[in-house]
Amino acid sequence: MKIITDSNLEAIAEKLQAGLTVTDDDALAMLSTSDIMGLSFIAHNVKQKLHGNTVFYGVNMNINYTNVCILRCPLCAFSCNKNDEKAYCLSLEEIVTKVKDAGDIDEVHIVGGLHPDLPLAYYEQMLHAIKQVRPDIHIVAFTAVEYDYMSKKFNIPLDELFQRFKESGLGSIPGGGAEIFSPAIREIIAPKKISGKRWLDVMAIAHRNGIKSNATMLFNHLEKSVDIVDHMRQIRALQNETSGFKTFVPLVFHEEYTGVRAKWKEPTGFDLIRIYATARIYLHNIPHIKALWMYVGEKMAQMLLQCGVDDIGATYYDEKVVHSAGAKTSAWGSEPFLQHLIRDAGFTPLRVNASYMPTR
Ligand code: SF4
Repeated sequence: MKIITDSNLEAIAEKLQAGLTVTDDDALAMLSTSDIMGLSFIAHNVKQKLHGNTVFYGVNMNINYTNVCILRCPLCAFSCNKNDEKAYCLSLEEIVTKVKDAGDIDEVHIVGGLHPDLPLAYYEQMLHAIKQVRPDIHIVAFTAVEYDYMSKKFNIPLDELFQRFKESGLGSIPGGGAEIFSPAIREIIAPKKISGKRWLDVMAIAHRNGIKSNATMLFNHLEKSVDIVDHMRQIRALQNETSGFKTFVPLVFHEEYTGVRAKWKEPTGFDLIRIYATARIYLHNIPHIKALWMYVGEKMAQMLLQCGVDDIGATYYDEKVVHSAGAKTSAWGSEPFLQHLIRDAGFTPLRVNASYMPTR
């Protein structure tokens, strides 16, 4: 039986077999194909060549240290102003207590708003304090947006900031803040946020300081397929220079409670498969493609394991950002729950930290 029926996909499969890189036009063809079985088949083969039958997951906790943010991006349902009733900022003691209480975790994932009053010492001491109570823990902390803010506010070059934070315990950097690089769309969904170009610059500096990162892409708002390809092209190009991205993480936009009224429907299962499978095939130089079960739902995340995805995300104890925007999934999935999703899809689960080092 012939699995690939779309002639564009047949040509892409032949290119991959010949060791060639797919083009932007190929990516556009993949994003519009209705041959979902054929696309998934190609992406799955790429994933199997890279990782065999292994699917990765993490056991971690989230710390969203403050929801106060001076940018107030329309896309964000999490942030608020300093004097709002729901404004909070965790003390270092509270952060340490959360880490101690989290029990058997390998990693802590820290992101927050751009708070106008926090000193540099708050960020550095946060990393120090976590490492003091849990020296073994891998800290993934602060987005490129937060680093840009700190660098400007405290007048410290990014190179120096990264070195200082590394000494304080920083392990790697999350991929948030990339959104979609298109300046016209950014102007609507996050007008005050750093540009896509600056986001890439910050990542390049982190990579040259020996710090690996993820790269995200927010979709299902105002973007067209060309914007998705443009976004991935810029990430692929930087990766060719630095090899600093570990993982590409497409994120479905949840618009509830945000200031963006973009799409009137949830993405379909086919929409999601097109995005994740295309990412796997197009981003040949990025080792991992992650589908956060919390964003796409656990059932869809499991399906995507057959479509090029090799990482299902993590337990995310205490996640607040995506749930502020109306995500209906549980805010915490247990380790047996993630293992079950992976095994039930026919793969072998491997517990790793953010550097993909096995932790058991
Ligand atoms: S998305 Fe980030 S930078 Fe924008 S308002 Fe929310 S917390 Fe602030």
